[in-house]
Amino acid sequence: MSHFAQPAASLYIDGAFVEGAGAELAVHYPYTGAVIATLREASPEQVAKATAAAAAAQPGWAALRPVERGRVLIRAAQIIRERAEELARLETLDTGKPIQETRVADWPSGADALEYFGGLAPTVTGQAIPLGGDFVYTIREALGVCAGIGAWNYPSQIACWKAAPALAMGNAMVFKPSEETPLGALKLAEILTEAGLPAGIFNVVQGRGAIGSALVTDPRVAKVSLTGSVATGQRVYAAAAEGMRHVTMELGGKSPLIVFDDASLEDAVGAAMLANFYSSGQICSNGTRVFVQQGILPAFLDRLAERVAKVRIGDPLDEETQHGPIVSPAQAAKIREAIERGRAEGARLVCGGPGEGAFVPPTVFADASDDMWIVREEIFGPVMSVLGFATEAEAVARANASPYGLAAGVFTRDLARGHRVAAALQAGTTWINAYNLTPVEAPFGGVKLSGIGRENSAAAIEHYSQLKSVYVGMGGVDAPY
Ligand code: NAD
Repeated sequence: MSHFAQPAASLYIDGAFVEGAGAELAVHYPYTGAVIATLREASPEQVAKATAAAAAAQPGWAALRPVERGRVLIRAAQIIRERAEELARLETLDTGKPIQETRVADWPSGADALEYFGGLAPTVTGQAIPLGGDFVYTIREALGVCAGIGAWNYPSQIACWKAAPALAMGNAMVFKPSEETPLGALKLAEILTEAGLPAGIFNVVQGRGAIGSALVTDPRVAKVSLTGSVATGQRVYAAAAEGMRHVTMELGGKSPLIVFDDASLEDAVGAAMLANFYSSGQICSNGTRVFVQQGILPAFLDRLAERVAKVRIGDPLDEETQHGPIVSPAQAAKIREAIERGRAEGARLVCGGPGEGAFVPPTVFADASDDMWIVREEIFGPVMSVLGFATEAEAVARANASPYGLAAGVFTRDLARGHRVAAALQAGTTWINAYNLTPVEAPFGGVKLSGIGRENSAAAIEHYSQLKSVYVGMGGVDAPY
């Protein structure tokens, strides 16, 4: 079967495909390295065209009844589900992630977001505040034009997670996917149009960081939602501040997973693998610092090595494959450098290693210490560091001794301890006896350097809207003049 995945054109502006006027952007299938599409970046003028189209269309969209806006999003979710197989395949070609993942995690989670926010749209109401005669009522109104900027690990999910709450609230969006994975967002634009979205409400521009920067600083943009690294987040947040724009920053992490010696060993090992090797480890919330209580540390490492040895690595389009290639040669090189660093720092390689070509196998380091580079820095690849600990207080203190705070996990059969530790961990999401589950019903986002704002759940509505107070005077004006 051909892997050719050329879209009709590179950009989607004002309800139509448009060819980009900027530099060429080759799209590679990470498994073979073959070029599967050749796109062009937007020019800065095309970015301006997209934001202008969005600004022109947005008031009409916001003026619709919320139930009408919601219906469009729910229809888009249905179309995604009808085309599930085609979309999963495209996501695998764009990212290299195994088809067994893209069938269940990527577009399906995007469809959930469209359905959830489509249903939520008509439930958003204001408040009436009585003042004994006079009163105030509040209106939760759209911000206007929102910019969405995505990372390459979950490109279509990210596009949906940003578009769904933005559009539900009556905003328009200009979305720039990662230059590594530009294809899914164009599909989303097509699907939304088919579902009845008016032209100009969801636009896609392509490009590297400079085009993202042009989008962030466009005077028509009222809000920027970025999923990316901390370094990019700091730059984009600062640029957004110039125009006092709203921001949501979904950034990186170095999340802890704490396994107490009363935990189910099998579940804890399974969760640690999910928390490090799913999507070849390219997940922001991964629990890459696995703290294991001394009593079960040897058994944990033995069972982990046994299960890791059975992971099926290979062709991502083969349904049996559990571990695919890394998204790009540059990212694979960065991960290999990190593995080398771990070895040089004296951590013990339990399994895995640098691998070859596009593949880095699931890799586990033991005898790691908190000050090692591999334990402090986000690697964004399939590299787990296992650290021993003695007491609960020690584990919590070491887990929190990081500038990041995206996620955390705790495995224990002691309920009180589970909740106590979850409360003490500095993280936007903490799982007890689970890991990396991010249902649309629950808020998701980081604390500390991992970001600001929340995606998913009703909380996301607050980040795509602003409150207006309307004071109603019911009597005469009591002026002292
Ligand atoms: P990245 O920061 O390199 O790029 C992210 C996006 O920002 C890309 O679309 C890029 O083109 C754009 N960009 C770069 N410079 C810009 C600028 N100056 N102005 C505007 N846009 C700019 O990140 P990446 O390598 O694509 O993704 C990996 C990172 O994303 C990891 O750190 C990971 O943890 C993080 N991530 C976070 C979440 C989350 O929800 N918290 C989810 C996925 C990935």
